[in-house]
Amino acid sequence: MSNIPNRAETAPATDAAVTSAASGTAFASLPLPPATLENLQRLGYEAMTPIQAASLPLALAGHDLIAQAKTGSGKTAAFALALLANLNPRRFAVQALVLCPTRELAEQVTQELRRLARAEDHVKVLTLCGGSTMRPQLASLEHGAHVVVGTPGRVLDHLERGSLKLDALNTLVLDEADRMLDMGFFDAIATVVAQCPKQRQTLLFSATYPEGIARLAAAFMRAPKELKLLAQHAPAKIRQLFFEVRGDERLHAVSLLLEHYRPVSTLAFCNTKQQCRDLVQVLRAQGYAALELHGDLDQRERDQVMVRFANRSCSVLVATDIAARGLDIAQLEAVINVDISPDPATHTHRIGRTGRVDAEGWAFSLASLDEMGRVGQIEQALGFTSEWHKLAELTRSSDQPLQPPMRTLQILGGRKEKIRPGDVLGALTKDLGFAATQIGKINVNEFSTYVAVASDIATEVLERLSAGKVKGRSVKLRLLDR
Ligand code: AMP
Repeated sequence: MSNIPNRAETAPATDAAVTSAASGTAFASLPLPPATLENLQRLGYEAMTPIQAASLPLALAGHDLIAQAKTGSGKTAAFALALLANLNPRRFAVQALVLCPTRELAEQVTQELRRLARAEDHVKVLTLCGGSTMRPQLASLEHGAHVVVGTPGRVLDHLERGSLKLDALNTLVLDEADRMLDMGFFDAIATVVAQCPKQRQTLLFSATYPEGIARLAAAFMRAPKELKLLAQHAPAKIRQLFFEVRGDERLHAVSLLLEHYRPVSTLAFCNTKQQCRDLVQVLRAQGYAALELHGDLDQRERDQVMVRFANRSCSVLVATDIAARGLDIAQLEAVINVDISPDPATHTHRIGRTGRVDAEGWAFSLASLDEMGRVGQIEQALGFTSEWHKLAELTRSSDQPLQPPMRTLQILGGRKEKIRPGDVLGALTKDLGFAATQIGKINVNEFSTYVAVASDIATEVLERLSAGKVKGRSVKLRLLDR
């Protein structure tokens, strides 16, 4: 009998609940307008997360802030509510700029900002990132925006062309500042900041405090308040387990973990693209819904992979570290280190992606004998002693194969055809009579719309929507492979 609990045997996440209850201050204690409070309630944000409770009172009082927070802590809302409070929607000029290390993070920040800005009239949020064509960005800038979210290189490019002006800016946010520094953006940030008015509020968020953060703060901030939330990822929230493997067992060990713990969404990290490809091939051959994310994918393929993982129609996303930067998935039950990273900071970033806001997460690491030195370095850097288990302890906890709860339908038509999520939801629920609870995330991209539907109704939805209409028009659609 195995001495490690599988999913069915695992006790509810009491520690996590206690953590969030203890820090659960009501948003109503903040000086926010009633419409914003109502909107937060509609979004299901009942209590502030620790980073929100610590930063919002200071940020709303106008202080510059340096806050330690990572993806999953609720940091986006922490700075978004502050910048929205500084905003005058009637003044049609860029009043806030959020700099992010990657396009994926910028898009997630944009989405969260739009959700939070719903309480206000027509706040326009624009994303400016590299990897996208210039022309639509130039056209959008001509129409104007209140908030710009972007990567330093592309924002700088627009400033140099004169297509973006920052004279009306009152809030500057540096999100994941440590990663921007890692990626060599210090000079680009310095040049952008030089074009911002001196009279402004600057908010800096960073998961770690490397030396460069102090340099950024000294150069660009005024008497910043520092917030360090060491207890943010209480060890109880992420359970780290190590398994010793032989080289030839490594890929197979991943499916043993999946069958024992049955996580709905798993992010598996490999050190190389080739390892990603090999693992996905093995998992798919075993019938799992697995996708790969690495540098060989073009932007459109990456976008599709991320949509499918976030909408829960893919069980395992197999990624390299660089490709997974900025990825934010709210409900990630498990992270698997298929290879041990040679860099302890990378290990921390990887495992920090599970155990989000109020959920408990698993972090599994597979290590061969020649990786023990790396494990030792990680233990030293993070100050813990690793807990080891044997693959033989893992048992199947169900006869049913592990399958994702949703499947993705792709509608060939998106923003270009002026499709909105509500149009698709209306077609499926009002016209075709499916229950709203059977429909998951609807993502509208430029040329495609992705709709997550419960997997047991996927083929029926495909047939009936193919014969039906969206916005009064027939649409072409297909069901994406598992
Ligand atoms: P972030 O760290 O900003 O990427 O946020 C992680 C996730 O937590 C996002 O999906 C947010 O929508 C969600 N979130 C942020 N603040 C709260 C809150 N106070 N209560 C519940 N969920 C939240």
